[in-house]
Amino acid sequence: MSYDDSNIFAKILRKEIPCNKIYEDDFVLSFHDINPQKKIHALVIPKGKYVDLDDFSSNATSEEIVGLIKGINIVAKKLCISTEVGKGYRALTNISDDGGQEVPHLHFHLFGGEKIGKMVE
Ligand code: 5GP
Repeated sequence: MSYDDSNIFAKILRKEIPCNKIYEDDFVLSFHDINPQKKIHALVIPKGKYVDLDDFSSNATSEEIVGLIKGINIVAKKLCISTEVGKGYRALTNISDDGGQEVPHLHFHLFGGEKIGKMVE
């Protein structure tokens, strides 16, 4: 699947639509999910144009890959859910049709602030 510039997260990155921002650096943007499924439900997205984790793993630079992984940890610390400062959380990314991905720009969901429960419903 090729990257579709009209997806909602691309618009958020271009600041065409607002988001409730948590953190931003050269590699990632993080904001609260518009429809939270848990007490804390954050999204972390790379700034580069990647459809999903497979696209990212195949095509991103090492710097971008490190930047995203580090970004997830920075956001978890800011939200006080990382193991350094909190009780943990679930990081999840949906990939394509069977994975249930709705927005075709790679994003990690961070769920926390309470017990997250069963891994797969
Ligand atoms: P997916 O199913 O693709 O893994 O998750 C997409 C997520 O994006 C959903 O949890 C949905 O609530 C969230 N979302 C969709 N549109 C917007 C938006 O405009 N703003 C924010 N903050 N989240 C959105």
